[in-house]
Amino acid sequence: MHELPAVENLIRTLDEETEARNISRIKAIHIVIGELSSYVGECVQTYFDLLSQGHSCEDARLYFRHVAARFKCTSCGHEFDHDRDFTCPLCGGDGKLVPGTGKEFLVEKLETD
Ligand SMILES: [Zn+2]
Repeated sequence: MHELPAVENLIRTLDEETEARNISRIKAIHIVIGELSSYVGECVQTYFDLLSQGHSCEDARLYFRHVAARFKCTSCGHEFDHDRDFTCPLCGGDGKLVPGTGKEFLVEKLETD
């Protein structure tokens, strides 16, 4: 459900972008989703199909890339991807979530006409 405002936002941003850059049509959109964002690609796709009608991004293909949250070791400062484990792979120290990571919902690439 919470994908709805995110998709509305996305389409609004794409409309502004296509207008500013004189793009007639968007063919594909590559989206990054953080593992902690709780956005589900299929839900994003469903809302997108409904809401993109009549917009510059109508019928665009969506590609999703999932990214892990990042952790930083409290002992040695090493940064690592969260992999079911909060323990530093270098020294075994405790990892702490790097704020903002894993919560991404953003466009990393557009394919346009
Ligand atoms: Zn460490």
